[in-house]
Amino acid sequence: MRNSQREEGERMAYIKFYSKEREEFKTATNTHIFEPDISMIFRKLCRHFKITNVKLEIGKMRDGCGRATYSGYGISVIKVSKKTDFLILCHEISHIYNRQKLHCWGHNKRLWKTLKRIIKYCEKKNYWGMVSQTSTSPTEGQSYPD
Ligand SMILES: [Zn+2]
Repeated sequence: MRNSQREEGERMAYIKFYSKEREEFKTATNTHIFEPDISMIFRKLCRHFKITNVKLEIGKMRDGCGRATYSGYGISVIKVSKKTDFLILCHEISHIYNRQKLHCWGHNKRLWKTLKRIIKYCEKKNYWGMVSQTSTSPTEGQSYPD
């Protein structure tokens, strides 16, 4: 496959993935988080899912965006904005989990399974209720994370 075709295929996969996850995980999408809650939830999820060597960078992304990168030396980086939401955070953590535990990358069924597991865990632990009230707001327009 030509490079541009593959890129187009990946772009389509990720657009489909994002609209599906927003549809399915409404509470996670609509529960915003700010610091220090972002770091707290991040640490709790990494500990529970045994994700190691991952750094969190806050504030370098636009609101509503997130990014997960993986370097060849084993240190992963998750970037989110100062105002993020559970869906974005769980999505980026799922990427790192899949890379570290399943050695796969991309917006596919395995990412969906991991994301669902992480969100179910947040639900079970009532993490939505744990973040400060001011960080929760109903619906607002959001752009797609990377
Ligand atoms: Zn993604």
